[in-house]
Amino acid sequence: MSLLKVVGLDKSYHSNFRVLTDINFEVDTGEFVSIIGPSGAGKSTLLRCINRMVEVNEGKILFGDLDVGNLSKKALRKLRTNIGMIFQHYNLVPRLTVIENVLHGRFGYKTTLQGILGKFTEKEKEHAFFLLEKLGISDHAYKRCDQLSGGQQQRVGIARALIQEPKLVLCDEPIASLDPNSSKVIMDHLKAITSELNITCLVNLHQVDVAINYSDRIIGLNQGEIVFDGPSQMLTEGR
Ligand code: ADP
Ligand code: ADP
Repeated sequence: MSLLKVVGLDKSYHSNFRVLTDINFEVDTGEFVSIIGPSGAGKSTLLRCINRMVEVNEGKILFGDLDVGNLSKKALRKLRTNIGMIFQHYNLVPRLTVIENVLHGRFGYKTTLQGILGKFTEKEKEHAFFLLEKLGISDHAYKRCDQLSGGQQQRVGIARALIQEPKLVLCDEPIASLDPNSSKVIMDHLKAITSELNITCLVNLHQVDVAINYSDRIIGLNQGEIVFDGPSQMLTEGR
């Protein structure tokens, strides 16, 4: 059974303007899939439909055996812990430390921030350190996030997304605010850590070269429609 199955998805924000039209695809556990397309193609909207930050107009999204469009409150919580999010602008809490930001990911962003470290067990803190070590930033664990470079902040963003032990991570333009060197560091880490932990990855990118370098498979979106879906080397051969 596929991990994610999208069937006949249509999405409009306004009644007569379709942002996504008849989207169909399946993703298997362990795949690293890039979604590429120009700005406005509908990439962010597609990710937001998958974790139900927005509602679809038509079609079905299945995450394992969960029907994303038809969930109890409890099942929606389960969906959100099983799907991690990584954002272009990191979305960290600037005045909190690295370790606090990572642990905060366990709460699903819904708790007060006072004394956050005290709310976690040693085991949970060790888990956060394990991820920070993997990502090469455990030395910065007690620095405030606003003292870090963009590339370091995005590594914190990755650790925060992974602390819930999700099955899937959705990455919305994770390197769009970074220079080429930091972009490479981030993509290398994202690929290595998700493959080691067997986490499936869906990554929105607008750089075709990066998508070809890192992904097993590429989905091309243009004006809300899938215009390509296949192994990344098929795009290299066409060049
Ligand atoms: P991409 O991520 O590929 O840049 P988006 O999904 O952000 O594409 O946007 C696709 C289209 O949907 C764009 O025309 C955008 O202006 C529109 N759009 C995105 N979010 C909203 C929203 N919340 N309300 C109305 N229109 C939106
Ligand atoms: P990004 O560059 O990350 O795709 P955008 O600048 O397109 O972000 O969008 C930023 C925010 O504005 C998003 O939350 C998106 O949903 C919203 N948005 C984008 N386009 C529109 C639109 N045409 N109308 C209303 N909201 C929009």
